[in-house]
Amino acid sequence: MSETGSITTEQLRLWDKRHVWHPFTQMQEWEQDDQIIIVKGEGCWLIDTDGNRYLDGVASMWTNVHGHCRRELNEALKEQVDRLEHSTLLGLASEQSIILAARLAEITPVGLDRFFYSDNGSTAMEVAVKMAYQYQVHAGRPERSRFVTFRHAYHGDTLGAVSVGGIDIYHTTFKPLMFETLLAPAPYCYRCELGCSRDSCNMKCIDALEELMMRNAGLIAGLVIEPLVQGAGGMIVQPAGFLKRVRDLCDRYDILMIADEVATGFGRTGKMFACQHENVVPDIMAISKGIAAGYLPLAATVTTDKVYSAFLGTYSELKTFFHGHTFTGNPLACAVALKSLQLFQQDNLLAELQHKIAGLKQRLDGFKSMPHVGNIRQCGMAAGIELVENKETGAPYPWEDRVGIKVCLEARKHGVFSRPLGNTIVIFPPLVISTSELDTLLRVLYESIQTVTE
Ligand SMILES: *Cc1c(COP(=O)(O)O)cnc(C)c1O
Repeated sequence: MSETGSITTEQLRLWDKRHVWHPFTQMQEWEQDDQIIIVKGEGCWLIDTDGNRYLDGVASMWTNVHGHCRRELNEALKEQVDRLEHSTLLGLASEQSIILAARLAEITPVGLDRFFYSDNGSTAMEVAVKMAYQYQVHAGRPERSRFVTFRHAYHGDTLGAVSVGGIDIYHTTFKPLMFETLLAPAPYCYRCELGCSRDSCNMKCIDALEELMMRNAGLIAGLVIEPLVQGAGGMIVQPAGFLKRVRDLCDRYDILMIADEVATGFGRTGKMFACQHENVVPDIMAISKGIAAGYLPLAATVTTDKVYSAFLGTYSELKTFFHGHTFTGNPLACAVALKSLQLFQQDNLLAELQHKIAGLKQRLDGFKSMPHVGNIRQCGMAAGIELVENKETGAPYPWEDRVGIKVCLEARKHGVFSRPLGNTIVIFPPLVISTSELDTLLRVLYESIQTVTE
């Protein structure tokens, strides 16, 4: 029995290989294999054309919060689609986008009250970077055009977002198209680029950051950071207090702090937003992935009255922010996002999450003694298990060996879908995941690591 009605799995596979160019995918390899085609979702599970079930270990690219096809979200979407599917924010306001901004303002860090909508994480970051620079122009400091970024940072795939990124394998090709940035060392303690060890370093990387700011004083518009954890860089978790010190330096050198909460926002770290762990209020914050619970593309760049008011003036002063996307503030996405916020309350999700986070930590501890597990990093309900060829020296597996991919392919045979970051195995399930599902996820990953590396 096929789940797809009249079109066979075989036909879908043929068309997929013939017509669909998959992201971040070597298509030559893709075309050689039989790919899984997902047709249904239920809670934390994805179901393919043959009825096979896969635990969604990466929350459908880090977006899913309350599970797939959650009844309340489906209903909110159906209700909205019968009222209004889309109307532009260019020249008109629309109901759902207004209510959502007002609700979000209640939960974002205090002072972040101005919402500029777009539709994905990359656009939210493009907006952030352009907004920061134009702010400096209006503040009479057009020479402040540079951005401080961190090694291993990821902020999206459009050119501005790539420019402020720091992952060589994604970014090198496009170097000639990018603007230059001031690259600060990442707080990647397992592989510290300053050669320090965490027990004795006193965060030398912060000193390096300050030196960078000092040397370029007066030329920097903003600093871009993924608060608490660099996601795509390999789930690189920052030492406690790092974010706060970055905020202090931004204040000292009068630099706008841009927090990219695209991955960390909406409960992932155990609080609504990662910045709230260190009582940090950024000047600009980008949110996307979890905002509409993994249902629809939606994003916002949030800022303070101070930044917002710098753009106010008569039309002829040309202080307008000339930026916008066609599907900005889409009512369907906003309606789902609003219902998602209600579910956070109704399910007491953040409180419930605390014991799951502790449970995840406990289960991860069981991986420590594995002979090829070099480093385990966890931030709330996000974790990375870095596999190494030599545990003693930390020597990595050659990237061409694709050990991470092999582990995930093995896990797939046992009903778990995950996607690695290089040699780091990623755990990033829907927040609604149950204790027994978490057990399954970690047991299968453990056994798959064992099978591939031992
Ligand atoms: C995924 C991600 C982005 C890019 O979001 P898209 O919706 O894929 O464009 C930006 N920043 C961070 C931290 C991300 O994890």
